[in-house]
Amino acid sequence: MRINLRGLVLALTVLSAVAATANALYASYRVQRDLLITNTLESNRVYAAKLAESTGNFLKGAQQQLAYSARHMAAQIDAPDVLAAEVARVQEQTDSFNSVGIVSADGVILATTQNFRNFLGTRVDSPGSRAALQARQPVISKPYVSIAGNMLINLSHPIYSNDGRYRGYIAGTIYLRNESALQELLGKHHYQDGSYLFVVDSDGQLIYHMETDRVGENVMRNPVVAAVTTGHAGAQRVVNTQGVDMLAGYAAVPISGWGIIAQRPAEVTLKPINALIWTLIGYAAPLALVFLLAIWWCARLISLPLSQLAANVEHQDLAVAMQRVKSVKAWYFEAERLKRAVIWSFTALQEKIGKLNLASITDPLTGLRNRRGTQDAVEDLQASCTPFAVVALDLDHFKQVNDTYGHTAGDEVIRGMAQLMRDCSRPSDILCRNGGEEFLILLPNVGAKEASQVAERLRGRLADRSLHGVSGITVSAGVAHWPSCGSDIGQVFQAADKALYAAKQQGRNRVVTHAA
Ligand code: GH3
Ligand code: MG
Ligand code: MG
Repeated sequence: MRINLRGLVLALTVLSAVAATANALYASYRVQRDLLITNTLESNRVYAAKLAESTGNFLKGAQQQLAYSARHMAAQIDAPDVLAAEVARVQEQTDSFNSVGIVSADGVILATTQNFRNFLGTRVDSPGSRAALQARQPVISKPYVSIAGNMLINLSHPIYSNDGRYRGYIAGTIYLRNESALQELLGKHHYQDGSYLFVVDSDGQLIYHMETDRVGENVMRNPVVAAVTTGHAGAQRVVNTQGVDMLAGYAAVPISGWGIIAQRPAEVTLKPINALIWTLIGYAAPLALVFLLAIWWCARLISLPLSQLAANVEHQDLAVAMQRVKSVKAWYFEAERLKRAVIWSFTALQEKIGKLNLASITDPLTGLRNRRGTQDAVEDLQASCTPFAVVALDLDHFKQVNDTYGHTAGDEVIRGMAQLMRDCSRPSDILCRNGGEEFLILLPNVGAKEASQVAERLRGRLADRSLHGVSGITVSAGVAHWPSCGSDIGQVFQAADKALYAAKQQGRNRVVTHAA
């Protein structure tokens, strides 16, 4: 089965509407998504830069405190009480460090804050201490696990006596997994929207991460970490070491060689926009349904004239089909054209059929009705119960006309007779050539007597003139009437024939009326 026009229009419209909507939605989705990504990257970049600055300032401040103490303690290095008071002051006053200690040039702990009292007088051999003793200048150590089991970094400042002798160092520790000033600085900016930050040292080792267990892990494989540890700042979309698609901003802390990365999972960022698209679709759906109904209705309007034309053309009765086709409302150009074409071909067909019909009931020689035409006329009269008179005519001695003047002249005489019949009758009379030189006149609503007068007039006029140069032609006529001469039409015609025969018998050139 083929798809119909309505389905076609509907499908086409729906298809184009869906395509246009999907395209618009996708375009807006792309624009919004790109905007969100750009904004998130930018805000993370700014955030990382800001925190890198704060962290740098914090470390600088902490180092300045240690430098101050180192300067003042150089002369007091042999006074344990003064040293003890100083480390307590540094820790309490600034709150930058988890513990503070002063270590001699040979690595012995000379003073320490309360929490590490037990280690007083012992030799310390931690990576932080080794780095400080070796460098003899301000050091921010790598993260390591201290003897007390804390993951930390060590900030130290050398102590030089006035004569320039190295006397040891003063150091403050900052815990990386437990509560610390650094934790507070970085952690208080923690976002609720899925974004977070982490800090790496120059080797790509995690110094700060909200999952404290991961502190110490090396994440150098992360391209952003690789970039920030070489001192770069910026923002980029990156898949982190955990395989998560991230929108990361990053900035370096020059004073320590650290890098700060602020990031947000792309999925979290894009979630609202995905929801937005569904909301949009939700809002658009009812209106789309209304449009669909409107399109369906329009498709019906378009296809209706065509299907009506098709259905009506199929009607068997040409006249009915024509009438119905004319009544079809062809409201647009093509339908109107089609309608006109159908009407035109119907009209042409009707004319043709009319001509054929006429030819089939007409005698070609005279233009009068032939036998079939006569039959039709009789049937019509009978159907409408119209009484009528019948005049049967037969030219007298016609054989002789043919013999004398030839057959062609005989034909012309027959034509002349037909014309005479027309001249002597009224338009309502039905004139027929019954075959050869025999004719019939049917006179509706005319009585036998009046018909006999018509026949008589015709006979008289023929007798008085010549036809096609042939004079002396006469005609005999028999008159009958329906229903006066019998209810059966056949009987009436026989009666007319009988009367004609009688006229011939009585000497021809006369009219005989059948006695009812
Ligand atoms: P009547 O009727 O007076 O008894 O004599 P008739 O000579 O006319 O006899 P009938 O009616 O029996 O013969 C008819 C003749 O008419 C026979 C035929 O030669 C001639 N005829 C019949 N049809 C035609 C025709 O179409 N053309 C011509 N030229 N002659 C025809
Ligand atoms: Mg005859
Ligand atoms: Mg005859």
